[in-house]
Amino acid sequence: MGGRLSIAGLGPGDHALITPEVVQALAEATDVVGYIPYVARVAPREGLTLHPSDNREELSRARAALTLAAAGKRVVVVSSGDPGVFAMASAVFEAMEGRPDWQALDVRVLPGITAMLAAAARAGAPLGHDFCTINLSDNLKPWSLIEMRLRAAIGADMAMAFYNPRSTSRPHTFEQVLQLLRETCEPDRLVLFARAVSTPQERLQCVSLSQATPDMADMRTLVIVGSSTTRRVGRFVYTPRSVAA
Ligand code: SAH
Repeated sequence: MGGRLSIAGLGPGDHALITPEVVQALAEATDVVGYIPYVARVAPREGLTLHPSDNREELSRARAALTLAAAGKRVVVVSSGDPGVFAMASAVFEAMEGRPDWQALDVRVLPGITAMLAAAARAGAPLGHDFCTINLSDNLKPWSLIEMRLRAAIGADMAMAFYNPRSTSRPHTFEQVLQLLRETCEPDRLVLFARAVSTPQERLQCVSLSQATPDMADMRTLVIVGSSTTRRVGRFVYTPRSVAA
């Protein structure tokens, strides 16, 4: 077998939520590359070299993986959730730019269950109508762009799923997001805080916007803000499929 690079999603945490396709790619791998906590989810075995990195520099990790595949290894780059959602797949393709040798490799993207779908399923169906997804981290883009997109999404009355809502290095941006929501949405708008979904630390909280506080979110939380039609039914939250004309 020649070299191969699979860019795989490990899902939100529970082993049962990893696709059989990803399980098979890991079983056939010679090398697994990724951020430390994600590589730690892969069971060690003979013949498998684990390459955990704490380096947040995704491009150099992608180049290292491509170099291994070009040398004939069967490499799996792991991300949590889905590899195409704020994760390693884009970094690998960016690393392939200007490198026809790497572009010719056997590269495939293996999807995973992304955090917002796992969170939505736990809560009911808050993403059942049109929605959008925004990464609230301002590591790779300016806050002004985040604010512009937030305002557009609120104006379009879509449900919104927020990744990376809050970190210790930027504790104030999520407060600004809540402030903006309070200025533009009704106070009883539903906000779902889904933390560590499908792990033993899972915690779900659904509150109205007027009760939402910044400390309800951390880096392991996925936040879903409903549209104006999102509502409760029993212990569930859902957004109806139809909107009146
Ligand atoms: N590729 C990943 C997202 C990486 S960004 C995916 O598709 O899910 C990391 C962010 O994802 C976290 O800050 C958090 O907002 C969200 N996240 C990842 N796993 C989660 C989980 N099990 N529960 C809730 N949110 C999660």
